Amino acid sequence: MYGKFLETTTGCVIGGAGPAGMGLLFNALRTGAIAELAQYGLIIVDASASPGVGRLGDYQITANSVGDVFLDCLRDPAMADVFAPLQQSPAYWRIFHQAQQAPLLSEVGELLLLASQLVLDHIVAHYNVQLWSETLITEVIRDNDQYQVWVEHRGQVQRIRTGSLVLNLGGRQDPRCLVDGLKAQGLQAPALAAVRSADSLLRMSPAALRECFAPVVARGGDFVVVGGSHSAFSMLENIASALEPVGLQSVSLVHRSPIRLFYESLEQARANGYEFDPVADVCPISGRVNRSGGLRYRALDVGRQVLERGYVGSTSVRARLLLTDGSDPAQTEAASQVLGNAAVVMQCTGYQPLLPVLRRGDGTVITLRQVTGGLDSDASGCPCDDQGRRLHGLHLFGLGSGLGVDPLLGSEPSFSGRIYGVWQFHHDASRVVIDAVLQRLADLASPQPAIVHLEVGVTHGWPQELPDPAWGKAVIR
Ligand SMILES: Cc1cc2nc3c(=O)[nH]c(=O)nc-3n(C[C@H](O)[C@H](O)[C@H](O)COP(=O)(O)OP(=O)(O)OC[C@H]3O[C@@H](n4cnc5c(N)ncnc54)[C@H](O)[C@@H]3O)c2cc1C
Repeated sequence: MYGKFLETTTGCVIGGAGPAGMGLLFNALRTGAIAELAQYGLIIVDASASPGVGRLGDYQITANSVGDVFLDCLRDPAMADVFAPLQQSPAYWRIFHQAQQAPLLSEVGELLLLASQLVLDHIVAHYNVQLWSETLITEVIRDNDQYQVWVEHRGQVQRIRTGSLVLNLGGRQDPRCLVDGLKAQGLQAPALAAVRSADSLLRMSPAALRECFAPVVARGGDFVVVGGSHSAFSMLENIASALEPVGLQSVSLVHRSPIRLFYESLEQARANGYEFDPVADVCPISGRVNRSGGLRYRALDVGRQVLERGYVGSTSVRARLLLTDGSDPAQTEAASQVLGNAAVVMQCTGYQPLLPVLRRGDGTVITLRQVTGGLDSDASGCPCDDQGRRLHGLHLFGLGSGLGVDPLLGSEPSFSGRIYGVWQFHHDASRVVIDAVLQRLADLASPQPAIVHLEVGVTHGWPQELPDPAWGKAVIR
């Protein structure tokens, strides 16, 4: 279908246009930075036929943010023209009417997809940005401080040379990370085959969960959820509701640190009888309790019910909490036993970034250094290799990567994870990345302006438009 169409050069590639990649584009459009980015050449590459929402809308759970969080950026006066068509959309009004409640993620997904399509159409039409959908990033080579991004579209392979690469392809849950983590705590590890990723289970309907697990319930197999976060309590609720009708009676939840609940203030937490550390668990800037790591909204309700009554939501399924921080050896021992005997272990212990093969110019593989909850990156999401060398020009901040806590924005000192979420993607997280990308492109351009080649092969439409032969614009060889 495609002729010789081998190489393109551009200033910046946005790899992955899920909520993280799109967050950067929303923010760049809102602040006007899109014009400058596009001057250097901007190509958006995404595997999906309709990029914009990634996996967020697939999770069959309630959001851990209120509707306003998703609407904030869409209501910005600077975006009024672009987002005007949303006023006609039921998806917009559904979230609008839940401004102070947590909506279903399927509803959030519908809204973000529509909003993303408006932004993508606008920037392709007005800024000469290129959108390569249905295109898979297969490999990235860092050579002489530049990046070569290998992509594939319906069997056709192409290389993009770029000065900067924003790479947010989502996250994955490696069962070996769970097994190794449990072993490191001295717990019995479950069989690898018993470990199921919450990421895929949370995207299944109750009927699909029943079809999958009813035979296990019938055999009397034990179910264990590992983790103590929003995902863990959402998983607990989904599995209890789906399997109660086929006879599930109890689920164990193994967690490494105490279950943390979110409260708007110390007073609210105290009024609810919640025990917390007034220094370690309180954000010094907002005064909120467990601001980053606490359960919120629906997961908070489920968590409270489990802590107070021992049952999952309104079901008759019992939840047995087993804390493995060593404070109670009996609980640790019980956790070890249930893990060793479990038929199904649901992994809700965070994500690793989904990455293409990363190599240096000499062919050696680059491994990115990880820290708790994500990548060891600087404030702009620029990661290090395993030798601690910064990979300038590469930025990751989405699921599995995250960013460290910004001390100016605050968090509770006891939180050691990484920060990510749609509001951050639309605002603070992407702002620092945009600044860093523009600075780098200016630096790369200043010593010697790049020379453009335009050697066009035969193409039948990918990418759709031939770019201007100006510096940094997409160049086809
Ligand atoms: C269960 C769960 C619930 C969450 N709930 C909330 C919430 O309520 N509120 C909130 O703010 N945040 C929430 N988050 C956090 C975060 O907002 C979401 O995880 C969000 O989907 C992350 O966006 P992303 O772009 O990093 O990844 P994804 O959503 O996974 O998107 C990745 C994108 O990359 C593309 N892609 C993948 N591989 C390739 C490839 N090889 N080449 C090209 N393109 C590729 C995909 O097509 C997709 O468009 C939740 C996360 C989870 C796991």
